[in-house]
Amino acid sequence: MDTITCPACGNLSKLKFELKHQVYKCPECGLYTSNASFDFSFQSSLELGSREVGLKKLRFENFEVIIKSLIDLKGKNIKGLEIGTGNGWWLKVCQEHGIDCIGIEPEKSHQEYHIENNLNVFYGFYPDINIKREEGYDFIIFNDVFEHIRDLDELIISLKADLKDDGLLIINLPMSDGFFYQTAMLLHKLGVNSYLNRLWQFNFHSPHMNYFNAENLFLLLKKHGLSKTVEYNLNSIDFSTAKQRIRADKEISKIKAAMLTTGLQLLKPVITSAKSDIGVFYFKMD
Ligand SMILES: [Zn+2]
Repeated sequence: MDTITCPACGNLSKLKFELKHQVYKCPECGLYTSNASFDFSFQSSLELGSREVGLKKLRFENFEVIIKSLIDLKGKNIKGLEIGTGNGWWLKVCQEHGIDCIGIEPEKSHQEYHIENNLNVFYGFYPDINIKREEGYDFIIFNDVFEHIRDLDELIISLKADLKDDGLLIINLPMSDGFFYQTAMLLHKLGVNSYLNRLWQFNFHSPHMNYFNAENLFLLLKKHGLSKTVEYNLNSIDFSTAKQRIRADKEISKIKAAMLTTGLQLLKPVITSAKSDIGVFYFKMD
């Protein structure tokens, strides 16, 4: 296939590059879309242990930022739903702040943590499993999950049905105009594909289906009558744990991981002043 229909604006996206899967780019809105699919075997080259150490500090700090802004906007007496709970860290932060949030997660690899921490997680795919609240949710949040979902129109229709009229849809996701993505594209043009492969998570069982920027994310939601109310960026790298994050990928050798870590340290001043790779967007129904 040379073209596919852009999920955000409906124009024809053209084949942009080919890694393990093909990636298309929309000439109108700039959305990148892959033809990857979800591997239901849940097998991947992700090392759960080292991923945990590397990400935990950064994620908790970022979730603190989100929860504070949410409490400022809505107060504490709110009910939330997280789609794609994963390790359960967002629910943990909610619990620490006295916010009532449940999670949906297809995989059981973090079930032990969920149980130990008394987190309310339902196992399965949204919206297949019934977590309906008659009154709707005050907020529904995606943390690094929205970019992994193929059928976005169907998803957004379900989200609107599950949100209160004044409910917030919060999308926290990696951006295609951030420093790491731009660097990976540059390296790809120079013939190095591993970084771009890593960002798309093509070696993991749940690869990215899309890579958004702010503009095409707004277009997609606008189509469904949702408008942006709040937007900010989060830190995408904690230099003190960068090594563990890189090591979390089993396919990267120790030597290469060490080189990458050193490279990152050298680039630290550039990265910290460049455009962040993580965007957070709040949407409301019009
Ligand atoms: Zn488009």
